[in-house]
Amino acid sequence: MTTILRNGPDLESLDKRYLFHPFTALADHERTGPQVIVKGEGVWLEDAHGQRYLDGMAGLWCVNVGYGRPEIAEAIHRQALTLPYFHSFSSWATDTPILLAEKLIEMAPVPMSKVFFGQSGSDANDTQIKIVWYYNNARGKPQKKKIIARRRGYHGVTLASASLTGMPSLHSGFDLPLDFVRHTTPPYRLWEAEPGQSDADFVAKLARDLEDLILAEGPDTVGAVIMEPVMGAGGVIVPPKGYYPAIRAVLDRHDVLLIADEVISGFGRLGTMFGATAMEMQPDLISVAKGITSAYVPLSGCMVSEKVWRTIVDGQATLGVFGHGYTYSAHPLAAAAALANLDIIEKDGLVEQAGRRGAFMHERLAEAFADHPLVGDIRGHGLVGAVEFVAAKEPATRFEPSLKIAGRIVKAALAEGLITRALPHADTISFSPPFVISEDEIALMVSRARTAVDRVADELV
Ligand code: PLP
Repeated sequence: MTTILRNGPDLESLDKRYLFHPFTALADHERTGPQVIVKGEGVWLEDAHGQRYLDGMAGLWCVNVGYGRPEIAEAIHRQALTLPYFHSFSSWATDTPILLAEKLIEMAPVPMSKVFFGQSGSDANDTQIKIVWYYNNARGKPQKKKIIARRRGYHGVTLASASLTGMPSLHSGFDLPLDFVRHTTPPYRLWEAEPGQSDADFVAKLARDLEDLILAEGPDTVGAVIMEPVMGAGGVIVPPKGYYPAIRAVLDRHDVLLIADEVISGFGRLGTMFGATAMEMQPDLISVAKGITSAYVPLSGCMVSEKVWRTIVDGQATLGVFGHGYTYSAHPLAAAAALANLDIIEKDGLVEQAGRRGAFMHERLAEAFADHPLVGDIRGHGLVGAVEFVAAKEPATRFEPSLKIAGRIVKAALAEGLITRALPHADTISFSPPFVISEDEIALMVSRARTAVDRVADELV
């Protein structure tokens, strides 16, 4: 591994002086400073003081093939020497994005036609909104512009994608959400279902809530609905069986498109190549990012169905050039990294492995937490899991938010050498490790988490 040129304390003071951190309690940070990570190998990270951590979150749900893969590093190196960059505006092209687009269309969970590349999940979802708007302008439905997302859904932080995100903490201070966005009920059994309600009845209620919203707004004003197959940052919320077919039926009745936000679930996280397959979702548009390169370099994609594509192409006659694109759209270096990453996933059978290791993780989580007095729910699918903490189980009662239970557990876990994440707006901690995690490492991850939960439980008595 590389040599560290500056020692920890030096980096810490430079960070406090110069770096504006994303999603950070800035006043606290000015006092406490950063934790500087300097190395990674497999599922392990090392900080500037030599402290090792098991990364139970694969960074931010993204380093799916694990840290330190030479195949990706070499692909990036080769591409940087051959052709680091040329753009794709005005019909220009480079080779690796073409090959990657072909691969993605072949892999897609439902028939798709074209891929538009960007840099982040947020910009992918912004682009999807612009595609939906252009599409409806092209077919003479200029009113059909509202986008419906779900409360607790996470779709990014740009002005439009933060508006889609159904979390008040991403809106306050920023004058959001923008006025074309509406939010509907998430499929969150613990807090949204009636006690004892069957899955079928819960699904019917969720579909009814969505349809009522579309009818109240006016179907002629609603362009699309955006949904993560399994909601990630909002709480690792897995919908009940039959949910997406019921949602699709509502959308078909009202001529509304479905965008699958596969930014976390794409490329194996749920034990299938795409989350849409695991969750029986039939989208018209698909957003991908994170796992497409395992985050070695930034890249996102918007997959577009033939129906939408053809309408956009035909619309050019009246609307003019599709005036959207980034300097870094279809970046050849990012595409080279993605091709190497997807090659590893396929050659090493990592999608199937994520499914198997996921099943093992859910067994260990159930064993460790099912009887714990603080635990109200254990859930997940594939290699993503969550444990939610409650003040009382029957009926389920939330902790006072000021107790910050999940945040305290995450801190206690860090002291045990485990990185996990507290999810906003739920007393939930999440697990989303690299697919290369071994069974022993999963057992260690869960036992460290259990120790952390016990520590915080002791503080509460
Ligand atoms: N969509 C989903 C489902 C995500 O989980 C995220 C990020 O966590 C995003 C979109 C935004 O991606 P980015 O942070 O790359 O902009």
